[in-house]
Amino acid sequence: MTSTFEAPYSIRTSKAAGSGMLSTALTQLDEAFQRLTLDEGLRSIIRQSERELTVAVPIRRDDGTVSVFTGFRVQHSSARGPCKGGIRFHPVVDLDEVRALALLMTLKCAVVNLPYGGAKGGISVDPAGLSEYELERLTRRYAAMIMPILGGKRDIPAPDVNTNPRVMAWFMDTVSMIEGQLSPEIITGKPLELGGSQGRVEATGRGTAVATVEMLRRLGRDPKEMRVAVQGYGNVGFYLAEILEREYGCHIVAVSDVSGGWYNPNGLSLSAINDYLAHYPGSFLSSYASNGHMDRVSNQELLALDVDVLIPAAIENQITALNAEQIQSGIIVEGANGPTNFEADAILRERGVHVVPDILANAGGVIVSYLEWVQDLQWFFWEVGEVRLRLHDVMQRAFEEVWSLSEREQIDLRSAAYMLAVQRVGEAIEARGIFP
Ligand code: GLU
Repeated sequence: MTSTFEAPYSIRTSKAAGSGMLSTALTQLDEAFQRLTLDEGLRSIIRQSERELTVAVPIRRDDGTVSVFTGFRVQHSSARGPCKGGIRFHPVVDLDEVRALALLMTLKCAVVNLPYGGAKGGISVDPAGLSEYELERLTRRYAAMIMPILGGKRDIPAPDVNTNPRVMAWFMDTVSMIEGQLSPEIITGKPLELGGSQGRVEATGRGTAVATVEMLRRLGRDPKEMRVAVQGYGNVGFYLAEILEREYGCHIVAVSDVSGGWYNPNGLSLSAINDYLAHYPGSFLSSYASNGHMDRVSNQELLALDVDVLIPAAIENQITALNAEQIQSGIIVEGANGPTNFEADAILRERGVHVVPDILANAGGVIVSYLEWVQDLQWFFWEVGEVRLRLHDVMQRAFEEVWSLSEREQIDLRSAAYMLAVQRVGEAIEARGIFP
């Protein structure tokens, strides 16, 4: 694979993406409020983050100079349990993006019924411009600066775009050194030897594969006849493609990363591509020397291919009003967070495209994060088979709940997922009451 990161980090997105994503999420939230005829007070609580922290993170560079990066941790809601959500290192991270992603985490945890609220964190940085030691110092200083609001019962971070088990290990070590005790439950997505869970690295991809197959089953389509295109070949897309092909018999006809990708209408030879990437760690798909049986595609071209299932599994704002009309696939499964903006969503709905929304489709990561946290709290660890089984059960149940609500209300899956999630969050807020 291209890297051990959760998604290739710079399939283009603009600096204004954060506010666009926030307004998309809030508009979808407002629609759910309307459908549920939710009380005005509850609406105002759910529309805002509970707590937002901005930090200026200084690090000493390898050449002795000092650079300061801006970091964030936003806790959207702790109504249903400790706040939960990843940390991303990316140049376009800003407060609005982190707010939107924290809100999505609240809804994601609620829709799959985990006892968690939602949070997100990030640093506005291009990690490719840092050495390994600089990245470690940045992670450790950021961890120390947001630590006052974290905790196994308060807020538990995890990997996200451009962060991985190694970053989680530095994070946990920093908190444990400052606290003077080992605190594995402070963060999930850790390496196995530090209290990580079997099956966590593949979890988001596996969950997205389960969501894809559940969707196909509802539409009476045979996975073995499906041509699937996957945008993003990081920790989500890489495992997702492999699982869909090997376990469900789908034909993966296109994959891409930040450098573009490859297309063969009869199916790619994933094992050859993966062997190449394993042999040249850190390399990109574009440097793979095809034997002539595949065509190069750009990320934009991949989205418009004639396929049965399209899975955007990279980053936000990939499907917009500019390209929604060109999409030929009848099914979109959102492996990434926020890949479809509000205007595109309306166009796709109008065109009858089935969209399995991010807060359901990519919940596998946080589901196995939850299983990791439970194992850490018990200091008792499970085999990979048990983790996969539990992930599968949680995904299947959540899909069924969202699907039947969408049938009952005659609404699309995103609206149903939002409705279910908002209802659960609203009930928790009401049951707890307003302190004092
Ligand atoms: N970053 C992942 C997500 O967006 C996982 C979050 C977690 O495990 O807490 O869902």
